[in-house]
Amino acid sequence: MPLDKRRRVADIGELAMLARIAERIGPPGEDVILGVGDDTAALWWNPERLVLLTTDALVQDVHFRRATFSASDVGWKVLAINASDIAAMGGTPTHAVVSLMLPADLEADWVDEFYHGLLEMARAAGVTIAGGNLAQAPSVVVDVTLLGTVAPDRLLRRSGARPGDILAVTGTLGRAAAGLLAADMGLPDAKRRLPAPSDDALWARAITAQRRPQPRLAEGRVLASTGAVHAMIDLSDGLELDLWRLCEASSAGVRLHAGRIPIDACVAPIAAAAGRDPLDLASSGGEDYELLFAMGSGDADRVLQHLQDETGTPATIIGHIEDIGAGRIVKIGKEERALSPSGWTHFRSATRRRTAQRRSARHGKRQSR
Ligand SMILES: [Mg+2]
Repeated sequence: MPLDKRRRVADIGELAMLARIAERIGPPGEDVILGVGDDTAALWWNPERLVLLTTDALVQDVHFRRATFSASDVGWKVLAINASDIAAMGGTPTHAVVSLMLPADLEADWVDEFYHGLLEMARAAGVTIAGGNLAQAPSVVVDVTLLGTVAPDRLLRRSGARPGDILAVTGTLGRAAAGLLAADMGLPDAKRRLPAPSDDALWARAITAQRRPQPRLAEGRVLASTGAVHAMIDLSDGLELDLWRLCEASSAGVRLHAGRIPIDACVAPIAAAAGRDPLDLASSGGEDYELLFAMGSGDADRVLQHLQDETGTPATIIGHIEDIGAGRIVKIGKEERALSPSGWTHFRSATRRRTAQRRSARHGKRQSR
């Protein structure tokens, strides 16, 4: 048997697994404007509209635990993370189908609650639930396929960043990672370990950010309408990994100014209680679902002002695209260092998470989100 046949997905990792799948699928037909390798696929529909198509799932004991994550929050989040990918293209979500894989002994109320949260997000995002599928499975898996639309001249890809562009991010970072830590520690227990009194509202905000992310749909459309944004991606897996994806797709590198990364106010007290570095949570924590975008340097002031005026959302300049090698990120902070994507792969982290769960189960602690 060839050596490769015995390799597991965890050995290969998410990034290489995606490349392997893309190679197997081969180049798409002419009606596929964008295939594998961006936040959504983009399909030619008519001269005025492209169709955006994306899918994402939440899996029990990988992305959420039923004991600590309400069904309603699972419903909200699974649609929100798909809508965030449509936002990253500058598009508008329209229709979703929902595939539920459920254990036979799951309480029927869980499904009602799930749809309560899902429909709240659907109303907020203007999405119609057009159908779905039910199947039996050993644990809960909720999988959404979402359609959206965008005018051809408004489509934003990951691949358009050019040397000289300014890099900016909407909102603040680190909330969701802090929320995961806060939920795992438990508020009363964690607050006892804090050196200074902390505001309860900050902790609640962090936990809400992790469970009910807000896709930046209006912001994505406003940024696309300026005509000055060259590339965009939503931050699902952490600033550093998603920045690497944008740079790799654009065949460019970036100088990232660590001191300019907008760390949310809730991050510092929670990081202190957990013994973590706030910058680390904001740089690689993931699940903030903010938009990261590159734009021409002469347009940056106008674009950021327009975004603020139209949506009330601020954006912060955090770096510059440079001709220093595809995917190369030089992080400028206390020391200047180059970042590489090795160690960021999902299947590896999922394996680590499961190992951590087994370990914490033995010690009677909660580990998963
Ligand atoms: Mg994405």
